[in-house]
Amino acid sequence: MTLTESISIERVKKSRLSTIDFSNLGFGNHISDHMLVADYKDGAWHEPKIIPFGDMMMSPAMLSLHYGQTIFEGMKAFKNKNGEIIVFRPQRHHQRMNKSLERMCMPTLSEEYFLNSLSALIEVDSDWVPTAEGSSLYLRPFVFAFEAKLGVKIADEYKFMIITSPVGPYFAKPVKLKVEEEYVRAAEGGTGFAKCAGNYGGAFYPTLIAQKQGFDQVLWTDAKEHKYIDESGAMNVMFVLNGKLVTPKLTTSLLDGVTRDSILTLSSSLGLEKEERKVSVAEIEEGFKKGTLTEAFGVGTAAVVSTIASISIHGKNYELPVVNENSFQLRIKKKLNDIRRGNEPDVHGWNYTIK
Ligand SMILES: *Cc1c(COP(=O)(O)O)cnc(C)c1O
Repeated sequence: MTLTESISIERVKKSRLSTIDFSNLGFGNHISDHMLVADYKDGAWHEPKIIPFGDMMMSPAMLSLHYGQTIFEGMKAFKNKNGEIIVFRPQRHHQRMNKSLERMCMPTLSEEYFLNSLSALIEVDSDWVPTAEGSSLYLRPFVFAFEAKLGVKIADEYKFMIITSPVGPYFAKPVKLKVEEEYVRAAEGGTGFAKCAGNYGGAFYPTLIAQKQGFDQVLWTDAKEHKYIDESGAMNVMFVLNGKLVTPKLTTSLLDGVTRDSILTLSSSLGLEKEERKVSVAEIEEGFKKGTLTEAFGVGTAAVVSTIASISIHGKNYELPVVNENSFQLRIKKKLNDIRRGNEPDVHGWNYTIK
């Protein structure tokens, strides 16, 4: 029995595929024909269904709207040069999703259930996976409390859903960051390591203030002293400092990015020593002054690598050197893309092929 035979499928009457301009996709503008929905009820996850993408009914008393039990993941599927569809490291995303679920007192999913659901949906909408270099099908699994009740409680009913979106190459301008010294995204012991919705809602306001001041994003620092760097927006941050790849070590206040882990794993093959440790704002400022800080960039699924143009520290703006073809960030981005497209061997077993 194939995966799609074990999951019930209701197909769209008419696909919207022909209305999509694949040469001008952008990010998140289009959602594919189908979605996957599964219910958690009576203590168990039930058989997922694939149905046409569309609005759904919910109670205004749905618990996730009031008390925030909602988490998500974000990953990508690619067509490689042989025309096969591969998903990048879905097992690692699944592990992280379960960590988010546990932190929010929500029911976890088995790896098999998660991968089968993902594979079946991608198979049904396989024509939505773009073929152009740099394009991909963005995959958005999420889980939220569905039970309707007004009291503050851990919900007993949930929905697991997956929606997908074809996305184009991400041409991000180098970003201007501001070290945040007033507001906090996450404190140790909080939910910063979980991909839960509230983290993003709470980050909008400080980010908006930074944008009004002419920056693109804030560089979050630790909640206690604002002395150590956590991450930026929905990206982990990396520095090339004194010729080494330096990144904040994982704590409960920052997200364990799959891109971060992949780049750390590949760094030695590009001849760079890596350091995962506390990174202070003071040493970054010193690196700017001495010229030992040669690169800074954000890393995440959406853009892979986002060049950082400048960092404002205590109100003083420091510019990074302009990136060139020898920059570590461009070489590592190319290497990751080459592994995904099948131009380089996948020695770490990161590519998950949809049959
Ligand atoms: C998703 C996310 C990242 C990047 O994680 P990837 O797995 O590399 O996409 C980093 N920080 C935050 C806050 C995020 O939500």
